[in-house]
Amino acid sequence: MRIDLHAHSNASDGTDSPAELIAAAVAAGLDVVALTDHDTVAGHAEAAEAVRGTGLTLVPGAELSCQVDGISMHLLAYLFDPAEPAFAAERELVRTDRFRRGRAIVERCRELGAPIDWEQVRRIAGAGSVGRPHIASALVEAGIVPTVSDAFTPDWLANGGRADVRKHETDPVTAVRLVRAAGGVPVFAHPGAVKRGRTVSEQVIADLAAAGLAALEVDHLDHDEATRERLRGLAADLGLLVTGSSDYHGSRKDVRLGEYTTDPEVYEALLAQATGARPVTG
Ligand code: AMP
Ligand code: FE
Ligand code: FE
Ligand code: ZN
Repeated sequence: MRIDLHAHSNASDGTDSPAELIAAAVAAGLDVVALTDHDTVAGHAEAAEAVRGTGLTLVPGAELSCQVDGISMHLLAYLFDPAEPAFAAERELVRTDRFRRGRAIVERCRELGAPIDWEQVRRIAGAGSVGRPHIASALVEAGIVPTVSDAFTPDWLANGGRADVRKHETDPVTAVRLVRAAGGVPVFAHPGAVKRGRTVSEQVIADLAAAGLAALEVDHLDHDEATRERLRGLAADLGLLVTGSSDYHGSRKDVRLGEYTTDPEVYEALLAQATGARPVTG
């Protein structure tokens, strides 16, 4: 069993449509893939349609933008009821604020001399939950930086960078409770991704565990071996499961689907905790 529990489509900042993502997961030889777009479930229906007859299993999910003590962090949520009103309202709040903030970031970029505009970013994002990677693509189009990841520097879009503007992000303890109340399973995404900025303390992770966190995403591109060892130890101490996943973003990121995977026993344990939705088996 090859299980990848973190992938993005163009419903947020990935470049594959949900159907293309499913085809890519089949081509990569995956048995299970989770669709975890930022703050949206807009890709679920197309992905569920696309898995039919493929033998692949789709785990519907999302990746929630959270913030605690001024530190941004991401919470994966699997198999929640997408119609549960409190959690749906929070996702909507974050998505709406992404538009205000996207415009503000474009304005900052223009003040800094980058000839991009909001229409261009809207075209790049399409129907997707708009984020910094779309603006990064606009900066690439304008010839300001060579690649998307070169836009994530202090000069431009990195956390706290010259053109960075914050968005509404949910308190993570609240987010864990919202996910559980919607029947879902919350997992802390790339908790030690230091290259993205400051990361939360072990005390915060302990607080999340107490609130109902299920697992830490340990095997991830942004974690070196020492970070993985530390996080594995922390998960053991806190009684949390450990997952691994690619965080695939199509051509916006240099990682392959299935490059990091989750153990089948862990997947089964996560499934056993979910009451809001079931995986879709093709
Ligand atoms: P946003 O959700 O708009 O705050 O943007 C965050 C997204 O930017 C993440 O989900 C990643 O897809 C991307 N990102 C963050 N840091 C980097 C980085 N250093 N290089 C490339 N992409 C990044
Ligand atoms: Fe992303
Ligand atoms: Fe993330
Ligand atoms: Zn992600």
